[in-house]
Amino acid sequence: MVGLGGGLFSGGSLARIAGAGVGQKTAKVRYSNNRTFVHAVPILLCFYVIMPGKMLDWFSGLVGYDASALRLGQICAINRNGEIEWHKDRAEVVMGSYQSKVLVGKGTSSTEMRDAAERLGLVINPEVLWISGNPTKFLQGHNVFGPSVSSLGSMVRSLIRALPRDIRPSDVDNDLWPALQRSRVDMATTIDMGSHACVHEWLDTAARSSRTRHRNGCSQLEGGSVYWGFGSRRWTMVAYCKLCELSHRPVADLKLYEMLKQYCEGKLRLELRLRRPELKGRNTLEEGLIWDYFEKISIGELEMSKVNGGRPNLRSSVEMCLTVWLAGGDLKARLPRRTFYKYRREIMEQTGIDISIPKSDQESTIERAKFDLDYLKAHELKSVPDYLQGWLFRPDACPSYGRG
Ligand SMILES: [Zn+2]
Repeated sequence: MVGLGGGLFSGGSLARIAGAGVGQKTAKVRYSNNRTFVHAVPILLCFYVIMPGKMLDWFSGLVGYDASALRLGQICAINRNGEIEWHKDRAEVVMGSYQSKVLVGKGTSSTEMRDAAERLGLVINPEVLWISGNPTKFLQGHNVFGPSVSSLGSMVRSLIRALPRDIRPSDVDNDLWPALQRSRVDMATTIDMGSHACVHEWLDTAARSSRTRHRNGCSQLEGGSVYWGFGSRRWTMVAYCKLCELSHRPVADLKLYEMLKQYCEGKLRLELRLRRPELKGRNTLEEGLIWDYFEKISIGELEMSKVNGGRPNLRSSVEMCLTVWLAGGDLKARLPRRTFYKYRREIMEQTGIDISIPKSDQESTIERAKFDLDYLKAHELKSVPDYLQGWLFRPDACPSYGRG
């Protein structure tokens, strides 16, 4: 989906927050396609900033503002006769006032964007802006905490309004919201694990014992981070120690840096990166999504019982291997490496079982994963302390788009 329907505004989240408040007002407008906009009035904002929820941590995509006047550098190929064979626009690196960068380029609006613009009265142009970067970092100078992913539309608009004059599109001050086409959106949440050592213990355990159904589903440690679905074109989950990450990428304001370091001690960061195939067709990005994807990690009890209860549809040689694995056999030692991984993938696709984890560990992994999920949800940070509120960007309230 694109435009407001492109998940610009997460109706679920705003509506929930609205419901939680006292004396808050929302005006619902039903459109002909039976979808509901929730226009949040400013009074909503005070709740909104105190409860950032799952923060927006990246946006890449097209934004309906007019980019026809945008002058960009060029990349060209010159042949040996000194003639230009081809050339194309090069995205511009734009530095924000907090020394945070975004990439700005231009693209052509898609049919989906134009349809959404016509249906919902959004800003659209033939040549539109392309943005890639972290609006939260650009607007507030850090991404330790930040506005909810449900304020994506407002954050993208604020970012574009804050661009230098020679880059800024002329219609960005339009009161109408722009049509969007998202190619990547990241959302992040922070968990209080109690101590720095606990964060790293959790990361080490996760790296050793968890899997996803991605083709390259093994989690891996890279610079201390654990990845699930590394390099996937659909989605990736990343977990890391926020304190270590902050130490590698300090913020420009030294006073703020010291305060943030203190705040990040013992904090685990979980990030969900959604790319175009996963974003397409989603009207809204609800905050609960991060947990829905987290549950895809490791092996579900359901799949285990499916194998124990009835045989999955596997070819005989693969099923034989599964039988050996169920009996506690070490397949890795018995099979050629390539065969093992081929069989592993087939079994995983059919049953969700990962034969690279010994059966005895699999049950305890399930228990541990379940425990972790409850623990993580219970220790998720949902508010910003008073002394740091001054470093939280307050986005304008924006309309939400409910489930279609
Ligand atoms: Zn650390």
